Amino acid sequence: MTARILDGKIIRDQIFAELKDEVRLLTAARVRPGLAAVLVGENPASQLYVKSKIAACEEIGLSSALITPLPTATTLELLAVVDDLNRDNNVDGILIQLPLPPQVDTKRILEAVDPAKDVDGFHPVNLGRLVSGRPGLVACTPAGCMEILRRNEIQIEGANAVVLGRSDIVGKPMALLLMHANATVTICHSKTRDLPDVLRRADIIVAAMGKAGYVEADWIRPGATVIDVGTNRVTYPQEAERLFQNFPERLQKFRAKGSALVGDVHPDAINTAGALTPVPGGVGPMTITMLMSNTVKAARIRRASPRVSATQPAASAR
Ligand code: NAP
Repeated sequence: MTARILDGKIIRDQIFAELKDEVRLLTAARVRPGLAAVLVGENPASQLYVKSKIAACEEIGLSSALITPLPTATTLELLAVVDDLNRDNNVDGILIQLPLPPQVDTKRILEAVDPAKDVDGFHPVNLGRLVSGRPGLVACTPAGCMEILRRNEIQIEGANAVVLGRSDIVGKPMALLLMHANATVTICHSKTRDLPDVLRRADIIVAAMGKAGYVEADWIRPGATVIDVGTNRVTYPQEAERLFQNFPERLQKFRAKGSALVGDVHPDAINTAGALTPVPGGVGPMTITMLMSNTVKAARIRRASPRVSATQPAASAR
C-alpha cells in the first residue's frame, strides 16, 4: 500500500484564495488587515522566515511593516516597540520573530503583545482560551495540521490520535485541538514507555519531536494518517543512507547537495500509512498560511463591521 500524500501546498493555495477574497471585502469596508514583524539581530534563518512572511502578506493583499530594533536592544526598549504596535489601529497582527537576543526577556515581550493581535497564538490568554475551547488565536503550526486533516476529510471524531511531543508551540496546542475535535488523544514525550506500542494503536499520528526519521514504518498501524511536523536537516551520509535506502533519487539529491530535509517519521512510512504529509511540502507551508489566516481573523474580530464578518471563510473562522 502506498500512502495518499497530504500536500500542504495545495491547501495553502486554497486558503490563500479564500483569504484574498476576504481581504478584498475587508479593504472595501476600509479595513485593510496589517501585520507588523519585529526582527532583532541578524540571524540568517530568522531573516529568511520574516522575508517569506512579508512576501505572503503581499501575495494576499495585507499591509506589512518590518521593525528592526538594534541587536543590542534591551527588554525595556522592545517593550516600548510592542506598546507602540499595540496602540496602532492599523496593525492587526504582531509577530515577534524568535529567537530574541540573549539579553532580552523573551517571555516578557511575548506576554506584552495585545492578545487580540497575538497572531502566533503564544500569549497565555490565547492558550487559556484554547484550553477552555473558546474562540481565540491558535498557534499556527497546529492550526495548520488541523486544516490538513479537515480539508482531506480525515475522520477525527472518535479517532485514536497520538501526539508525539509536548512543546508549548506544537505538541500541547495540537493535542487540545484534536481533543476539541472529539479525538481520543494520547500525548507522548521523551519519558514515554513503549512508544512503538502506543503509536501502533493510533489512527492519527502527529509527530513533532525534532528527530530525523525516528518513527519507524512498522510502528505505524497500516492505513493510519501521519502528520509529520518534524523539520530536520540531515547532513551525515550514514544517516542519509539509513533514511533513503529505498529512495535512490533522494539519496542522489542528498549526495549532490550535502544535506536533505527530513521529518520525524522514517520515509519508509509511505508503505504503511494510509495518508501522509511529505517533508518538505506538508506541514511546512501551512505555518505561514495560518499566520496570514490569523492576521485576517484578528482584523475581522477587532475592526470589521458585522456585515463584513458574515463573509468569513471556513479557514479563518476556526
Ligand atoms: P521541542 O520544543 O524540542 O519539543 C520536542 C518534543 O519532543 C518534546 O516534548 C520532547 O519530549 C519530545 N521528544 C524528544 N525526544 C523524544 C523521544 N525520543 N520520544 C518521545 N518524545 C520525544 O520541539 P518543537 O518546537 O515542538 O518542534 C518539533 C519539531 O517540529 C522540530 O523538528 C521542529 O523543527 C518542527 N517544527 C516544524 C514547524 C513547521 O512549520 N513545519 C513548526 C514548528 C516546529 P520532552 O518534553 O520530554 O523533552
